[in-house]
Amino acid sequence: METVLSIQEISKRYGRIHAVNQLSTEVHKGQVFGLLGPNGSGKTTTLSIILGLIRSESGSFSWFGRNPSNESRKRIGSVIESPNFYPYLTARQNLRIIADIKDKSPSDLERVLKLVDLFHRRNDKFRTFSFGMKQRLAIAASLLGNPEVLILDEPTNGLDPQGIAQIRELILMIAKEGVTIILASHLLDEVQKICTHVAVLDKGNKLFDGNVGEVLSISDSFELGCAEMNKLGKLLKEHPQFLSLVAAPEKFIVTFNGKIDASELNGFFYQKGIVLNHLAERKRTLEQHFLELLHKNQ
Ligand code: ATP
Repeated sequence: METVLSIQEISKRYGRIHAVNQLSTEVHKGQVFGLLGPNGSGKTTTLSIILGLIRSESGSFSWFGRNPSNESRKRIGSVIESPNFYPYLTARQNLRIIADIKDKSPSDLERVLKLVDLFHRRNDKFRTFSFGMKQRLAIAASLLGNPEVLILDEPTNGLDPQGIAQIRELILMIAKEGVTIILASHLLDEVQKICTHVAVLDKGNKLFDGNVGEVLSISDSFELGCAEMNKLGKLLKEHPQFLSLVAAPEKFIVTFNGKIDASELNGFFYQKGIVLNHLAERKRTLEQHFLELLHKNQ
């Protein structure tokens, strides 16, 4: 699949704070890619770097297989901060100004206003808009000129449940049209519902990235214990479905890729000379997975 964005070991420090630490990842065409992490984990810094708003101090990134340039920038729409809309101008007038500044055709206004469901409010002043409508107008502005990639920083922040649902629907609709989406969010639920892929960040470090479907299909993890924990740890890594391991007192909490049967697991270790004295299946959610990953990083 076509690589839209490739990031290689980018780092950015603010004084002693490592806002982004050696981050590498790839985004492919058609993905809805979520940067997921708690506040201060480096999401906005990462987005600012890939948009060329700030410089990383090391590492590199490429857009559409090439070094970033003005040309590549034109193929990307973004909502990083609330844009400066004029409160006393209408939605249409505001978009017209942005289209002029960005050198985009005003003929696109109708399309983007309809897409974000604001066409019927196009002649209302911006100041009369709800917060959710303002957010949708910002997305409309970023879609002027039909970008191939849309970058959104915390798109549902501050919205009520209805506003959140509207933005979610909108993002999914835009993705359906073939636009690759990269969004930052601290909300697991949001990422779970919208994204196809995710990179989990904490304190500037990438803890994990992959297909959200795969992460979700890891519905089970196992607690495993035995008399020889070191040996168990080594053998675990040989299991073809092994994914991750968190050490807890006298047991490991182990995640496997896909479904796995407890007796099968027991047999696997028995054949290798390990007798488990503890084997418990845990139902898990993405939230648990996320918290375990964060815990592991502390
Ligand atoms: P949030 O969801 O709260 O916006 P984030 O994951 O987007 O968080 P960043 O905004 O990228 O995180 O911040 C990462 C770290 O870098 C934080 O510790 C933050 O305090 C620090 N930081 C970000 N910008 C600056 C700056 N201009 N000057 C100093 N420190 C900064």
